[in-house]
Amino acid sequence: MSKPSGPQTVASAAAPTADCQRCLKPLPLCICDAITPIENRISLLILQHPQEQDRALGTARVTALQLKNTVLKIGLSWPSLSRALGRPVADPSRWAVLYLGSARLSDLGTNSDIVAINRKGEMEDNQRGILKAVEGVVVLDGTWSQAKALWWRNAWLLKCQRVILGPARPSRYGKLRREPRAEGLSTIEAAGMLLSALEKRPEISDTLDATFERMLAKYQEARTSLPELAPKARPKRDYRRRKRR
Ligand SMILES: [Zn+2]
Repeated sequence: MSKPSGPQTVASAAAPTADCQRCLKPLPLCICDAITPIENRISLLILQHPQEQDRALGTARVTALQLKNTVLKIGLSWPSLSRALGRPVADPSRWAVLYLGSARLSDLGTNSDIVAINRKGEMEDNQRGILKAVEGVVVLDGTWSQAKALWWRNAWLLKCQRVILGPARPSRYGKLRREPRAEGLSTIEAAGMLLSALEKRPEISDTLDATFERMLAKYQEARTSLPELAPKARPKRDYRRRKRR
């Protein structure tokens, strides 16, 4: 009989925290049991920058698990909306993209949760008609500079209607992640606000926010026992190398 060899021994020796196969978070951070899927009428497309696979604090995958009508793609560029989405799109102008530019709701003198803007950053005239026609929304997932890279590399985004959000409160990330913009929301918060406003269903945002709060609570709880989860530990490169084996 030969000695037990190879992968098993190595795996137990290295003993990295195992990941949940569904949400891909380390098991102590898994919140799958708290995720009740929501039927969203308006489609969601999340484009995730390949370097934004923060398994501890990332929210794109959790968002996609919670909102059933969601496509999550990881990459830098796609030739068209339909290629990114994996299905034909009759009219990309009926898709909205959460705009990253400098337009701020407070400067536009409105208290709406969501506003359609033109290329000059001004409010579009026919807000109600434009927003009512939206059949899908694109959200870019990553840091500010990663999201900007996605914006510039996907020229078809120019065909989509730009929308901006006026969050009622700052992101629940708080100090866990540094965001250069005060209004910088996590993907799960932004998706919740967008779909709630467009579908006029406040419960969407309430449910996603509750999931996010649960995720952050688990993170805070686990952080002391799992130093590898600390934000500045930079486990990302090792993580990807390990995963590709
Ligand atoms: Zn999970």
